[in-house]
Amino acid sequence: MNKIKLSSQNMSNLRFKAVEEAFKKKAVPSQTPAQITSEYYGKYVFGKEQMTKYLSKETLKALLGVIDKGETLNRDLASHVAAGMKMWAIEKGATHYTHWFQPLTGGTAEKHDSFIEYSGAPGTCVIEEFSGKLLAQQEPDASSFPSGGIRNTFEARGYTAWDPSSPAFIVDDTLCIPTVFISYTGEALDYKTPLLKSLNALDKAATDVCRYFDPSVKKVYAFLGWEQEYFLVDEGLYATRPDLMLTGRTLMGHESAKNQQLEDHYFGSIPTRVQAYMKDVEFEGYKYGIPLKTRHNEVAPNQFELAPIYGEMNLSVDQNLLMMSLMKKIARRHGFRLLLHEKPFAGVNGSGKHNNWSLGTDTGVGLLTPGKTAEENLQFITFVVNVLSAVYKNNALLKAAIMTAPNAHRLGANEAPPAIISIFLGTQISSVLDKLESSTSEEAIVMDAKKGMRLGIATIPEVLLDNTDRNRTSPFAFTGNRFEFRAVGSSANCATSLIALNSILAAQLKEFKHTVDSKMAAGASKDKAIFAVLKEYIKESKAIRFDGNGYGDEWKKEAAQRGLDCETSVPVIYDAYTKPETINMFESVGVLSERELHARNEVKWETYTKKIQIEARVLGDLTMNHIIPVATKYQSALLDNVYKMFQVCGQEKATKLSVHNTSIIEEISERISIMKTKVDEMIEARKVANKIENERAKAIEYHDKVLPYFAEIRYQVDELEMIIDDELWTLPKYRELLFVR
Ligand code: ADP
Ligand code: MG
Repeated sequence: MNKIKLSSQNMSNLRFKAVEEAFKKKAVPSQTPAQITSEYYGKYVFGKEQMTKYLSKETLKALLGVIDKGETLNRDLASHVAAGMKMWAIEKGATHYTHWFQPLTGGTAEKHDSFIEYSGAPGTCVIEEFSGKLLAQQEPDASSFPSGGIRNTFEARGYTAWDPSSPAFIVDDTLCIPTVFISYTGEALDYKTPLLKSLNALDKAATDVCRYFDPSVKKVYAFLGWEQEYFLVDEGLYATRPDLMLTGRTLMGHESAKNQQLEDHYFGSIPTRVQAYMKDVEFEGYKYGIPLKTRHNEVAPNQFELAPIYGEMNLSVDQNLLMMSLMKKIARRHGFRLLLHEKPFAGVNGSGKHNNWSLGTDTGVGLLTPGKTAEENLQFITFVVNVLSAVYKNNALLKAAIMTAPNAHRLGANEAPPAIISIFLGTQISSVLDKLESSTSEEAIVMDAKKGMRLGIATIPEVLLDNTDRNRTSPFAFTGNRFEFRAVGSSANCATSLIALNSILAAQLKEFKHTVDSKMAAGASKDKAIFAVLKEYIKESKAIRFDGNGYGDEWKKEAAQRGLDCETSVPVIYDAYTKPETINMFESVGVLSERELHARNEVKWETYTKKIQIEARVLGDLTMNHIIPVATKYQSALLDNVYKMFQVCGQEKATKLSVHNTSIIEEISERISIMKTKVDEMIEARKVANKIENERAKAIEYHDKVLPYFAEIRYQVDELEMIIDDELWTLPKYRELLFVR
């Protein structure tokens, strides 16, 4: 605590003030009422309970038809729903409403309008109005949202249209209506539109396959359980780190002597200030009917995780987006800043968002859950093998779906999934597939949660099926009753990866159905036909199965030999979206058109370029006006010391006594000179890149020519941090950012 006192001597150094303030902070009392959760759960959502209360029987029935069966929504129905929704919202204190949508910039967008309208001619008194038209559709001025060229600014029209399958909710004084966002010509300008289309395609394709096993299946649902990782940083410290404020991550900072090496943070006791924050986050989440279940410390200091119980995918995606924005807001109330960046700190773990993904039928069967009967097990194996096959063929696309400038810092580092997509199945499922591949007749697969797994007569070691067979290094792992896509970044909209996943599986299942049907038409029995096709798929897709250590360098070599995509340049990875086979795949399931795919890539490249551009500017600025001035100041103090030494001690003695200081003086000069040169070169590289018109080429130029300077400059800064007087250093250090709470 000694250093903290320095603030009185060094009032100009905001860093010490910030640390001192942060240490003094006490936990903010949580706002959670002394009520049991179920009493206020879902209070701010216009869910089924509220609908029953505020809608007539006929309206409710018709609306549920729209929600559950996908029936079309007519204007009349919309008007009736709008009336009920308005009444509920006003009673809850809402004065405004907004269409809440998910533009390609990430996050969510909203434009609030109040309910008031003149009751008659202009100037008459106002009344609260909310018509079916306003509920169902709006035309926000959308010219500043990215469209990748789909929507020219002179034709700025974009439409938002209500998604009745995700319930409306109230935040503060505003009724939020989840909507899709499309262009005047009908192309998707958001994530929700293709997500809904992919869910529809997957439902159709999976239902068709399920009917081989159970003809009564009418619908297949896709489920998502997300696990949100995040960092919290004291807001005073945050405010004195311009890199955190402007880019979401630290662009410089020497590793703390202690960080996560003792593994004492993961699952450790939650710090009090953080615990109070988590309680408030849960309280808010529950009000929105979000079934938050798990909270714990993560691996890195000041890193935490929040996860709900899984649910229907479209709703779960919306809930994650809502949670991210609530978490940000609540952090402020507790004197924290929430960091959702994938890699805010070098040298410690980054943040991901595992997407737990599974399918289930309207008859209550989990399609990725091993069953009890031979028939159920054949269905389970069918779905697992089709997932393998789909992921194998589209491993480059899945990587493109999770890749962003920030996530690239996390993937491939020794803590997160590697930048190569492979599947971990675990020993049990692997043995079943190996057995199936080599079996000659159609032996029944017996897999039982209690009895373990056997394949026909050949008994496979009877191990209980559970979740313990885990491999933390796999980007895509089977975990007992679901697949866990772990490569997804913490700040991502889950829909980006799920659109790809749902679509590739839908296309795969369609192909499977087609092949099985043609074998049956040629006289094969159903089981025989299914076995034959599965065997073929197992053989074909072998390269995607990898249960070993994904962090090792050997894996990189082996993966390349197996023909898996090993590209590491973010802008080049995006090319996977527009390969002819990918365009075919997306079009065959009706999720995204060629035009949309090209447009979305334009947006991705543009976003990449802008992120690197901003980081480069911040890095240059900080180096020039924080680091170099501080280094110079310290150097002057040393020069002064050496000079005086010579005055007092005479040449010979002073030379001896000043060895240490002289070498530091020289080191500072050398480092300053390298930094200055590199910053200048980086600015020149940016100038060259900025002249490039083509978005892809520009992003590649930023990746190849600008980005490499970051590490070189940072290295010099971090070395200086270790030799310069701590009292002079203006930027909060890693040990403060990561340990003060
Ligand atoms: P871990 O961190 O060990 O992976 P967690 O318990 O933190 O596990 O998170 C697991 C997530 O997976 C939770 O959101 C949970 O609801 C979800 N989940 C469990 N079963 C399924 C399933 N069948 N389909 C989708 N998600 C599931
Ligand atoms: Mg997990």
